[in-house]
Amino acid sequence: MPEKESGGDFRYSTGEASVPWAAVGEHLGACEAKSVIRFLARAEEGAQASYDERMQAVDAALDALFEVAGPATKLSLGDTVNQLEEAAADLLDCRYASFITNATHGFEVALKYANLGPGDEVIAPAISFIATIAYPLGVGAKVVFADLDPRTVNMDPEDVARKVTDKTKAIIPVHIGGYPVDMGPIMEIARERDIAVIEDAAHAFGGSYKGQMLGTIGDFGAFSFHEVKNITSFGEGGLLVTNSDWGENLKKARFLGLDLSKQIKNWLYDVVALPGKYGPFAAGNYSSTEIQALCLLNQLGRLESIIDERRRNAEYLNERFASVEGLITPRGDDADVKPTWHLYLIQVDPAVTGADVQTFKAKLTEKGITNIPHFAPMYKFDLCKSLGYDEDAIAASCPNTEEIFNHRFTHLPLYPLSQEQVEAMADKVIETVEEMKAGK
Ligand SMILES: *Cc1c(COP(=O)(O)O)cnc(C)c1O
Repeated sequence: MPEKESGGDFRYSTGEASVPWAAVGEHLGACEAKSVIRFLARAEEGAQASYDERMQAVDAALDALFEVAGPATKLSLGDTVNQLEEAAADLLDCRYASFITNATHGFEVALKYANLGPGDEVIAPAISFIATIAYPLGVGAKVVFADLDPRTVNMDPEDVARKVTDKTKAIIPVHIGGYPVDMGPIMEIARERDIAVIEDAAHAFGGSYKGQMLGTIGDFGAFSFHEVKNITSFGEGGLLVTNSDWGENLKKARFLGLDLSKQIKNWLYDVVALPGKYGPFAAGNYSSTEIQALCLLNQLGRLESIIDERRRNAEYLNERFASVEGLITPRGDDADVKPTWHLYLIQVDPAVTGADVQTFKAKLTEKGITNIPHFAPMYKFDLCKSLGYDEDAIAASCPNTEEIFNHRFTHLPLYPLSQEQVEAMADKVIETVEEMKAGK
């Protein structure tokens, strides 16, 4: 008999057995452990000889270790995932946290809960990564693009109020660069009309708004641990969180609706539909691994220092740019708002600098400063046009977005940068603005 949901979402307790359950999967051993170590600690150029020598010692030590070690018997959704989820829920001060494949899938689960389908509307900020609206577009819902607050480059609550309709089933605020969206008015609009709020907190693990951790303010929040985020689980991963009672369903919603606490006749488990807001839905598979959880658990332990380091770099840049007219720097921490400082969001004021952000970006690239803005107005992509979205009409309804994207906004990296790199970046930015003002 299977034990009631022990360990992870899907683990049979086979009891004492000469052929245990884990035997059905290939074991991982010294060979895999070594390849992980080689991957994480790459040989520096020119250091091959001493690298090889030390690696031989590591090899020998690992071989000896594995002689007395048993294999890991759980690789997916086991105790490490549970531990991580407890630690994350604790840190975020929320009731339920589920470690999943990625943030995109987190939005998917939350939107499945909202029973999102064709004809429904979802409000998202005009500028984000396409992942924010991938599921709504995929199921044929209509994405309504909210214009941006020109100061924060986040969703403007006033435009959300203008664009909300009886068909709006979800609002997806995005804390861009880790800077909090003004959630108060958005929650008010949503509560009045019983609309689900799903926070895209892909950049926002560890930030807060009016004392609440980002991602835990709406009905759901999804974090990303992809390699480009401020905290990672070996390159891919996500966390879906909620404070609602519905969180009891998260584990089943993450893994195909398998319910090990119930059995059908002559079988080990039952498969259930998940209770959505307006009716049942079928779950997908968003399971994550023990190794990814292990990585994230470690990073959680140093989250504070991760954010501190970014904040220090941001404060340095803010200080250097304070006296540079025409540069609009990001707001710092205050009583209400604690960003994660994932990215340094910066704008130029073309009226002062004489040229716009396109010149600014080109000059910085020429000077060897990376500024890869990975966000554009999503309605400009072929994907939206192919699905029948009218770019010009949407652009006309998002004037701030057009101005910010075409003329003002970019972002700079904050970490991992040495003090020397941050100084060099500040120097080149100031030099660039001076050249622009001189008409060069
Ligand atoms: C990275 C990112 C996502 C997607 O995260 P994944 O974990 O890769 O699915 C969603 N929204 C924004 C704003 C992002 O930058």
